[in-house]
Amino acid sequence: MSQSRPRGGTPIASMLVAVLLAIIGIVTLNLGITELGPGGGGFEAALPYLSVTIFAFGFVTFSTLRRRRGYGTPYTTPSKVLSVVRCAQCSFKQIKNFAIGEFVFKAIGNCTQCGNPTLFINEIYAEDVKKH
Ligand SMILES: [Zn+2]
Repeated sequence: MSQSRPRGGTPIASMLVAVLLAIIGIVTLNLGITELGPGGGGFEAALPYLSVTIFAFGFVTFSTLRRRRGYGTPYTTPSKVLSVVRCAQCSFKQIKNFAIGEFVFKAIGNCTQCGNPTLFINEIYAEDVKKH
């Protein structure tokens, strides 16, 4: 009954991986610095640790950037801009493609349902075009 369903909305698993890799990166960085320091094995001994560090931090950075892009930023994914047209007099509502020059609350003419000149842009938003 109290079971929670993972629906992909909360990326807990990928967050845990990112945190784990960040920890691995810090640990291997410390090991690498220790090898480079006095008493260590020098650069050749430090290199494997440092390459793991670079990989771990690189992966964390990459996954963070990718997740941020997923939150509907319109400059990377092709998106469709739509206008929601509403009538102030009746319940008429229509969604159409955005045209240049349109803005929210702009009056755009007569209502096709009640005939009053009360049609206006109620909302403008971008819809992500999902490619598969
Ligand atoms: Zn109307």
